[in-house]
Amino acid sequence: MELLDGRALSKQIKSEIAKEVDLLKATGKDIPHLAAILVGENPASESYVRNKVRSCEEVGFESTLIRKDESITEQELLEIVDRLNANDDVHGFIVQLPLPRHIDPIKVTLRIDPKKDVDGFHPNNFGKMAQGLDCFLPATPYGILLLLERAGIETNGKHIVVMGRSNIVGTPISILLSRKSNVGNATVSLTHSRTKNLTEFTKKADIIIAALGIPEFLKADMVKEGVVIVDVGINRVEDSSKKRGYRLVGDVDFEGVGAKASHITPVPGGVGPMTVTALMLNTLKAVKMVD
Ligand code: NDP
Repeated sequence: MELLDGRALSKQIKSEIAKEVDLLKATGKDIPHLAAILVGENPASESYVRNKVRSCEEVGFESTLIRKDESITEQELLEIVDRLNANDDVHGFIVQLPLPRHIDPIKVTLRIDPKKDVDGFHPNNFGKMAQGLDCFLPATPYGILLLLERAGIETNGKHIVVMGRSNIVGTPISILLSRKSNVGNATVSLTHSRTKNLTEFTKKADIIIAALGIPEFLKADMVKEGVVIVDVGINRVEDSSKKRGYRLVGDVDFEGVGAKASHITPVPGGVGPMTVTALMLNTLKAVKMVD
């Protein structure tokens, strides 16, 4: 079994980005500037945003973190989005999800200028993605494509099973992998909670993308020998042996499935860092679009 090491690949891609930033600086161009809005104190969101800000520092981007209390109104948040849309110094921004219940995430996403939508969640970018047009690809699917491409995993003609149909992971990655393009041309089965006889699909899969949010759901008896596994899940499970009281696990039983897989992503250190790196690439793209 070979590890698909997202952490190592991210490091490599980030050093490539840093070189491009040096070049931008040397030629007097704008330095990419990413802003992030974080509402409330969700520990997982705090950790994701921290990673994003740290990555900006690593590649030489400017970053701004806008923290707001959970009591912020939807209107106040929309006004912050409007200000970021209008701010020429900010090339891209994200609103970290999930948002508090009283704020409609769709309304917020629709308000983001698609040219600054570096998370690739706006329907304008999603629609372009579906049609194979130039756009910001959603960060997690983009990170998965990069991981497969750089690891030399062939997708052409393969049967790929995607588990989970969210708008941010399952649905877009299923579209991207079935496109007529590099790291595409696969026959994709998009499965979800209503799928009957799920194991019949997973057992036939050459590649499985697991994005359900259920700790260690995919077991060894559900996959065939030599399968390639991309585990998107990030789940906190209680673990009193850890100082922080929990450990992170994916949607795949790493030990069992790993023993049968040809390649597998670890959690943490697989898709997570690639998502952040894809966000950096989108921000670099955003600054180039302005020039
Ligand atoms: P959602 O919670 O939005 O969706 C989960 C999906 O899984 C749904 O489509 C659901 O089906 C499906 N599902 C639930 N139970 C089953 C089942 N028994 N069999 C088959 N499908 C099932 O998920 P997200 O895409 O937002 O997140 C998935 C996981 O990925 C989470 O652990 C999340 O933390 C992680 N994540 C990781 C990222 C990273 O950077 N590594 C980025 C984003 C997410 P239905 O539609 O029918 O309800």
